[in-house]
Amino acid sequence: MKLAQILERIENARTGEAVKLIAVSKNVTTKEVLELLEQGQTSFGENRVQELKNKSEILSNLPIEWHFIGRLQSNKINHLLALKPALWQSCESVEAALAVDKRLVCELPCLLQINSAHEDSKQGISPEAAQDAFLQIAQECKFLKPIGVMSIGAHVDDEKVVKKSFETTRKIYENLQSKGAQICSMGMSGDFELAIKCGSNMIRLGSILYS
Ligand SMILES: *Cc1c(COP(=O)(O)O)cnc(C)c1O
Repeated sequence: MKLAQILERIENARTGEAVKLIAVSKNVTTKEVLELLEQGQTSFGENRVQELKNKSEILSNLPIEWHFIGRLQSNKINHLLALKPALWQSCESVEAALAVDKRLVCELPCLLQINSAHEDSKQGISPEAAQDAFLQIAQECKFLKPIGVMSIGAHVDDEKVVKKSFETTRKIYENLQSKGAQICSMGMSGDFELAIKCGSNMIRLGSILYS
C-alpha cells in the first residue's frame, strides 16, 4: 500500500495526539528504504543487529533515524551500540538494561518491551512486573534512559483479546507518564488502527508498506 494512503489511515484512526510511524525494513533492501525516504519517511526499524549495520552503513550520510526492535543477544550489544541507534525499542528486562548500560558511554533512549498477553513466543517483561522494572532501569542506569513502552499485540484472531493486550500496555504507559514515559509503541500491519484507538503514539509497520 502507498505510504500516503497509510498515513491517511493513521490520521483517520487517531483521536488525540500525533502518531509516529516507524517503517520496519527487516524484510526489504536499501532500495525500498530509499523509496520511502524519498517520500518523506525518515524513521526505520530493524530487528537484527547485523542487518541494521549493513543498511545503516550503506545509507550513511542520509537523514535516517534507526530503531532497533529485535531480540538483543549479549554478544551483539557492542555491535549495536557502535551503530548509535536512535531508540532501542526492545529492552526486555532489568538485566538486559543493566548489561547495555554498562557498555554505554553516552545516552541511549529505550522502551521497555511488555509481553502484554503473556505469550511464550514473545520476549518482554510481564505486565505485572513492568512498572517496577521501568523505575528500576530509570534509577540504576547511568546512560540508558527509559522513555516509554513497546508491545506486540496478542497473536490471535479474536479482536477483543488483541484490544485487551493493547489496553494493558496503554495502562502501564499512563502510570509511567509521570516517571518520564512519552512513547507507547504498539501496532503493526495487521492491527495498527486498533492500537491507535487504544492509545498508541508510535506504530511499527513492515509488510503493509511493501504490499
Ligand atoms: C516485524 C516487526 C514489525 C512489523 O511487522 P509487520 O506485521 O510486517 O507490520 C513490528 N514490530 C516488530 C517488533 C517486528 O519484529
